Amino acid sequence: MSDRNSTAARASDRAFLGTALHAPAPGRLEVLRDVIVLVGPDGAIDAIHPGASGDGMAAAARHRTAGTLRTLEPDQYLLPGMVDLHVHAPQWPQLGLALDEPLEVWLQKYTFPLEARYADLDFATAVYESLVDGLLANGTTTVMYYASIHLPATRALADICLRRSQRALIGRVSMDDPAQCPPYYRDASAASAEADTRAFIAYVQSLPGNRGLISPVITPRFIPSCTDGLLQRLGSLAQESGCHVQTHCSESDWQHRYVLERCGISDAAALESFGLLGRRTILAHGNFVGDDDVTRLVGAGAGIAHCPLSNVYFSDAVLPLRRLLDRGVHVGLGTDIAGGASPSILDNARQAVIASRLLESGVDAALERGQRRREASRIDALTAFWLATTSGGIALDLPIGLFRVGYQFDAMVVGNAAGGNLRLEAGDSPQQVLQKIVYNAGRSNISDVWVAGRRV
Ligand SMILES: [Zn+2]
Repeated sequence: MSDRNSTAARASDRAFLGTALHAPAPGRLEVLRDVIVLVGPDGAIDAIHPGASGDGMAAAARHRTAGTLRTLEPDQYLLPGMVDLHVHAPQWPQLGLALDEPLEVWLQKYTFPLEARYADLDFATAVYESLVDGLLANGTTTVMYYASIHLPATRALADICLRRSQRALIGRVSMDDPAQCPPYYRDASAASAEADTRAFIAYVQSLPGNRGLISPVITPRFIPSCTDGLLQRLGSLAQESGCHVQTHCSESDWQHRYVLERCGISDAAALESFGLLGRRTILAHGNFVGDDDVTRLVGAGAGIAHCPLSNVYFSDAVLPLRRLLDRGVHVGLGTDIAGGASPSILDNARQAVIASRLLESGVDAALERGQRRREASRIDALTAFWLATTSGGIALDLPIGLFRVGYQFDAMVVGNAAGGNLRLEAGDSPQQVLQKIVYNAGRSNISDVWVAGRRV
């Protein structure tokens, strides 16, 4: 808990009084019981005081008088907002569809025809408004988005996130390889893809009122969709601009082998050779990364977006999550809308636990126990919560996911709700509360959401 005497240094904008839970480290819960959190005009946390302390009571009185104090009920908890590292915004209309197809068929038959429709700006605007509202209602305060190849629709997504106050990292998707991209949905050339990417970066950087809420992301869809020439251009642009990078890496047998055959090296090694692997790179999935790839990821400080629901349908394997965490890879969670059929990071947090347990126990009862098990693979609910919040923030290199002075106040209130499956009891320990939230909380249990101190 931070209790600085510097509250007077600048006037906080608003204050929150109640019990906050967060996870500073994997498997570690910190309880900030009956604290007052003071938030400045820039959305950053100015101070956290015990509510009953002199500073705490003075601040509470001041904000009560000003009408800027929010007091939680005894059965409500303040939690950091969820961080979603992997969303395909244009795929929102096909959530839950065609999940019985293999990845390469799913892309060509359903996904590319849908994404091509975002040439229509009105269609894009309607879908993106619905998506951003839906994610915020699920407590997701930060999202890393793939848009489509269309610059106007991608700009619209940035406008909508800014207007709705959702922290967003957004990429105009680049894909130019005729071998894998259909003629109706691909960049005309590597040069035009780079030019449109530069135009989107410039647009976001000059967006009025942005103040760091929206960031541009360099987004080669994945190696199979891009020519070497395009990957080289985008790698150079990443070095030049310092922007975040996102792409897919070793998701399925098909993708993993495709890159091995085309490039002669693994997906992660190829991305590194193109200059696309850095501290601000997020690779979706990474289910098939080998030991050398893990060394590469750790060396670069790159992160993995673990999408455990999507992986059930498209990845052919369970991510060796525990192994990655033990080696120090940054990992956060992603819904992979619409590869995964839920917009909720909490759904993915519980699925991350389930997937890790299945990897540990093995799934084929016809095999002997020793053959089917992969020892020490499990994570617990608290570690899944850490992945969904703190660790997602670390992966993005952003001060989010924790209640700490200097961190952004991105938060949600969770509690019992009529019609919800969550049942918190007065005698529950904080550990029990957190377990119940990870396993049972849904959209109806999330009553309030703030991004950068602003209620959304
Ligand atoms: Zn994806």
